[in-house]
Amino acid sequence: MRKLFAALAVGLAMVGCGASDVADEATMQEVLIMGTNAAFPPFEYYEGSEIVGFDVDLAQLIADELGMELRVEDMEFKTLIGAVSNGMVDMVVAGMTVLDDRLAFVNFSDGYFESKQMVIVRADAVDIESVDDLEGKRIGVQINTTGDQFARAYLDDVDIIQFNKAALAVADLKNGTVEAVIVDEQPAINFVAGQDDLRLLETPFVEEEYAIAINKENIELLEAVNGALASIKANGQYDEIYSKYFAETDVE
Ligand code: GLN
Repeated sequence: MRKLFAALAVGLAMVGCGASDVADEATMQEVLIMGTNAAFPPFEYYEGSEIVGFDVDLAQLIADELGMELRVEDMEFKTLIGAVSNGMVDMVVAGMTVLDDRLAFVNFSDGYFESKQMVIVRADAVDIESVDDLEGKRIGVQINTTGDQFARAYLDDVDIIQFNKAALAVADLKNGTVEAVIVDEQPAINFVAGQDDLRLLETPFVEEEYAIAINKENIELLEAVNGALASIKANGQYDEIYSKYFAETDVE
C-alpha cells in the first residue's frame, strides 16, 4: 500500500506540482520525498522489503523536525541528480558527496558525514599490497560515484567496470570478474565485515563530505533542512543514530 502511495505521489509530482506539494490523504501532512539508492549499507539498504539505514533515519528526523511525512524512493544512483533537478523527489540522501560538477545542477545542504574512498580486494590476491599494485587490473566501481572518478584520476592503465550498485561490484569481486572495488569507507567496511575472502587497502584518496542534494529553485527547503540538521546535531539525535550504525565499525 505504501508503495502505491509513493508511486502516486511521484506520478503527481511529474505532472507539474513540486514533489513537496503532495499531501498524504490519511494524515494531511505534507510529504517529503527522499530519493536514494538502497544498496549502500549502512547508509541505505533493504531489511526485508523496507529501506533502512543511517540516511533514512537522518531523513526521518529531518521530516519530523519539519512536521512532514517521509517517503523513500529507491532508484539508480546515476539518476538521483536528475530526479531532484526535475522535481520527482524533494531531496537526495544517498551518501552523496558534495562535488563541483553536481553543484552545477543542485544545491547541497550543510555536510552531515565525512568519508573517503577505500579499495576492497580478495584476501588471496597476494600481488596487491597497495593502491600502486592496481595497475593493469580490472577495477569495479559504481557508475557516476566518486569511486568511479578516483579510479580514473589516480590509477593508470586500469580497466574500469561500472556497476549500477556498489553491492553488485562486490559480488563480481567475489566471483573473480573484477580484481578490486573502489567504494566509500563505511560501505567498504560493511561489505568486508565477516567475509574472510575479502580485505581492505589503505588509500591516499582525499576526504569527502556527504550532504543532502536539493533542487536549486527550492531555497526554502534548503534552509529548512539546514535548520533541521543543526537542531538534530545539537540535541543529541545525530549522535544517537551515529552510534546505532557506526559504533562498532568506526575505524578512526
Ligand atoms: N559518496 C559517493 C558519491 O557521492 C558514493 C555514493 C553512493 O554510491 N551512494 O559519489
